Amino acid sequence: MTILQTLTDFSNRYGADPDLVLAGGGNTSAKDGNVLYIKGSGTALATITADGFVAMDRRRLDGMWDKTYPEADDAREAAALADLMAAKRPGEENKRPSVETLLHALFPQRYVLHLHPAAVNGLTCAVDGKAWAHRLFAHTVWIDACKPGYVLAKRCRACMEAYKAETGHDAQVLLLQNHGVFFAADDPQTLDDLLADMLDTLRTQYRERPDFTSAAAEDAQLGARLAALYGGVYRFNGSAEAVRFSDSPSSMAPLMKPFTPDHIVYCKAFPLYLRAGDDAEKAFAAYRAAYGFAPKLCYVQHGGFYALGETDKQAATTALLALDAVKIAVYSRAFGGALPQSDALTDFIVNWEVEAYRARKAE
Ligand SMILES: [Zn+2]
Repeated sequence: MTILQTLTDFSNRYGADPDLVLAGGGNTSAKDGNVLYIKGSGTALATITADGFVAMDRRRLDGMWDKTYPEADDAREAAALADLMAAKRPGEENKRPSVETLLHALFPQRYVLHLHPAAVNGLTCAVDGKAWAHRLFAHTVWIDACKPGYVLAKRCRACMEAYKAETGHDAQVLLLQNHGVFFAADDPQTLDDLLADMLDTLRTQYRERPDFTSAAAEDAQLGARLAALYGGVYRFNGSAEAVRFSDSPSSMAPLMKPFTPDHIVYCKAFPLYLRAGDDAEKAFAAYRAAYGFAPKLCYVQHGGFYALGETDKQAATTALLALDAVKIAVYSRAFGGALPQSDALTDFIVNWEVEAYRARKAE
């Protein structure tokens, strides 16, 4: 089997597991000599074919570390993106490499697997996540939350170099605060083992599991009103856990801000919360006036949530990511409680063109 076939194979396998990959989240790569094959932006791991990977020139990617990029966010990311696009091999002009390509290129190992599973983000999105990560996973590199793109890759590079200087080994596992996890190995079996070890350890810590049995009935009239306000359709979720969170503004607190960029891409940065007796039309209009966009997720006091979208597929994806946030909020209780993304980071991502591209491709 060629390296590209092996990569396609394990990408499809991980991508088909909803506990590991939701929507377009996660990405994979493989190295073959001077070529790095990386998942194309907007493709899904579950269905990606060999053609969905973008062939990149590793020397040109490495050369990006010799450059000095502008300090200003927009100028820096535009320049880094231009260099990333220029590092594509001939024949790849119509493809767009994952925004996390530079991170994959940092690992010397042949295969890299990057995921955002709720089971792992229960740790990375927790108040005491860092301390617990060091306690549970001694050979793991922890990366504090920071701006995605070039800044994140640069921080990871510095942390991986420090790890190697200290231990004499290349980092195999990176835990990214408010984001997810990277595994690197020279064969797919080792990736499987690293992932299984981490999930097994975390499961022993998670005594509370989210309860997704049904607890609230759908209010079809409210759903139709919200869908009309959005200009699309809705998906309802009245699971016991979603209803528990919706009970009061204080119980909603862990879900009023996004945990990771995925939640912003698919659910918008904030949900609309309707208390009993609130006028849905007025609240919707107030939300739109405050943020400049319509909500994609509406929590209703004692009533669970309504996920909105222009199409049923979009609404279903929003619902999936909303439940992902619920899982993270519950799991994070094992590690000191929920830690959402900082407001500064959320602002950056909301305004970032690359994530906007991801959201458009996902629709
Ligand atoms: Zn990621």
